[in-house]
Amino acid sequence: MNYPGPSDYIDIHNHGSKASPGIFTIETLMAHEGREPVDLEGITFTIGIHPWYLDEGNKGLLLEKVKELAGNPNVAAIGEAGFDRIRGASPFLQKEIFEEQVIISENCHKPLVIHCVRAWDELLTEHKRLRPKMPWLVHGFRGKPELAAQLITKGMYLSFWFEFVMRPESAPLLKSVPVDRIFLETDGADIDIRDIYEKVSSDLEIDEDLLKTRIYSNFCSFFDPPPPLKGGKNPLLWV
Ligand SMILES: [Zn+2]
Repeated sequence: MNYPGPSDYIDIHNHGSKASPGIFTIETLMAHEGREPVDLEGITFTIGIHPWYLDEGNKGLLLEKVKELAGNPNVAAIGEAGFDRIRGASPFLQKEIFEEQVIISENCHKPLVIHCVRAWDELLTEHKRLRPKMPWLVHGFRGKPELAAQLITKGMYLSFWFEFVMRPESAPLLKSVPVDRIFLETDGADIDIRDIYEKVSSDLEIDEDLLKTRIYSNFCSFFDPPPPLKGGKNPLLWV
């Protein structure tokens, strides 16, 4: 697995990433796509089953694919996995396959990236019941500060929905979330992660370089254990 540096912009959730200097990207592989993680500078991968592309007919094959790739060194996390009450498989099947992916995440010691639309009770119930040791990241978040606080209390990280985060009205939510729990993402949209960092650092009234260092530090905590770095000194110990 490749790792970012403290001065990189980190795009924690993307689809169709292209390598770009100074930007470190997590590319999301969805099992139904049949794509493979490859060795690419500045990019690492997640593998999961998205609730939109799941049905009773393909679930066995998709699970096999996730299990097959989970241990791949270029796969950093499992997901996106989760719940969607607007679109996708039946709630029952979504739950079954989410649980399978939590087990894979725990067994391979890699964190879980979550897609959750209007199913917060289900997500929180699963977290309580399964008591995962691996951290969970809710991507595309745009809920209320109270909901954000509830998820963070459970130890989860949040990555904000790119479109919402660029709007002025997202500032109260951004300010309500501790900086050590946030990530930023483009989610495959035609938007530059650097513009998102600029907007968020301005809302948080912190220097953009500091925001980069903080999100880098979150990256290292989320992808526990931290990577051994060349030269022996691990910046985690001082960030
Ligand atoms: Zn996505």
